[in-house]
Amino acid sequence: ESISQLKAQNPTLNAFVSDCEEAARAEAAAMDAKIAAGENVGPLAGVPIAIKDGICTKGQRTTAGSKMLENFVPPYDATIVQRLRAAGAICIGKANLDEFAMGSSTENSFFGVTKNPWSADCVAGGSSGGSAAAVAAGISPASIGSDTGGSIRQPASFCGITGVKPTYGRVSRYGLIAFASSLDQIGPMARSAKDCAILMNVLSGHDAKDSTSARNDVPDFVADCDQNLKGLRIGICKQYFENEPDGSGLNENVRSGVMAAIEQLKELGAETVEIDLPHTRYAVPTYYVVAPCEASSNLSRFDGVRYTSREQAKDLIGMYSKTRKVNFGDEVIRRILLGTYSLSSGYDHELYKKASQVRRLIKNDYDAAFEKVDLIAGPTVPTTAFKIGEHAKDPLAMYLADVFTASANLAGVPGISLPCGFSADDGLPIGLQLQANMFGESTLFRAAHQYQ
Ligand code: GLN
Repeated sequence: ESISQLKAQNPTLNAFVSDCEEAARAEAAAMDAKIAAGENVGPLAGVPIAIKDGICTKGQRTTAGSKMLENFVPPYDATIVQRLRAAGAICIGKANLDEFAMGSSTENSFFGVTKNPWSADCVAGGSSGGSAAAVAAGISPASIGSDTGGSIRQPASFCGITGVKPTYGRVSRYGLIAFASSLDQIGPMARSAKDCAILMNVLSGHDAKDSTSARNDVPDFVADCDQNLKGLRIGICKQYFENEPDGSGLNENVRSGVMAAIEQLKELGAETVEIDLPHTRYAVPTYYVVAPCEASSNLSRFDGVRYTSREQAKDLIGMYSKTRKVNFGDEVIRRILLGTYSLSSGYDHELYKKASQVRRLIKNDYDAAFEKVDLIAGPTVPTTAFKIGEHAKDPLAMYLADVFTASANLAGVPGISLPCGFSADDGLPIGLQLQANMFGESTLFRAAHQYQ
């Protein structure tokens, strides 16, 4: 059923770069046989799943949305893919994304833009736009995304679904094509918080193949959903609701949707506390130094020698530069230039080092806030989904919209975006974001599930 939905809807939505029909049908048949034989099947037995195409799948083309990897077939599965398969899940296709996960609209994909299932002229968000659209359109009940500065939470918000960015280190990134390694996290996207919790139980846990993987115990996130909200302290950050002169101001309809959701959390027993995250406005400039710096280093491996397509030239340097010029898109080139510049000697003190210092201040803000509260509530994105092409000429406007999401990645803390109604303006979904302290996903699931 999922495969036929994919085939029927993909020509309009473009949520998938490739389908995995053959493998999926074989896995489904094998699963049926196991069930018939009374064998033990996992907690996700037979559940169809869409996997972001920046995550390696053995024998199945993995492009990262780039011409560079147009024909790359990984010889191995990412750790999370192994875990999902072991739990019985079936990968139905590889979901579209911004090239190398750089973007907020999936417009930067070499394979074309993904449309928002709620409105065909709007973006699905990004960079995990295909993963979000697949769930919102009912193609698969769940999907996997990755989030470096908001790429799970923002498309979840734009498509009216639930998405989780776990704590840095909670989920293995082995097999995720790296964008910015100190920020990247893989996480689940689904209709509800409880479905995300089921997936998180499967995805989480230590992996020796990822040196940043944490050894912390993994609680039963599904069981945590059932705790009521009596006594839960929710922080309301005043900076999130201020209107900034740079245009990153919060849309009025989004504000009222989020405020109504916070009222509902109070009715469920939570109390609100005003908190201060004074460095919030520096999250975007800090992120757009740190992320391109790390990207410029990570993407140096795409040189025409390994993995990728190769352009012929007279000499080695010519081959490198032609391969990279022809096979990287504009946004990727912009980030590599930005990152290389910010790391070059003479500028690194003013840029990379300064950004790392501000990053620490952002982290300190969270530490102070979590002494007083258990969760922080606010909007996921300042607006609802925008029109395709609306920000095409102005990458900066698109960057500014990461104001509420990028700081969680800089600090390493987990966040969830869940739908909280529709805008009176355009009828599109609004997202509520909850953030918790390091390894505090249980509290996110508890509040999100009780709200839903
Ligand atoms: N929108 C942000 C960017 O363009 C975040 C992307 C992401 O989280 N992968 O970098």
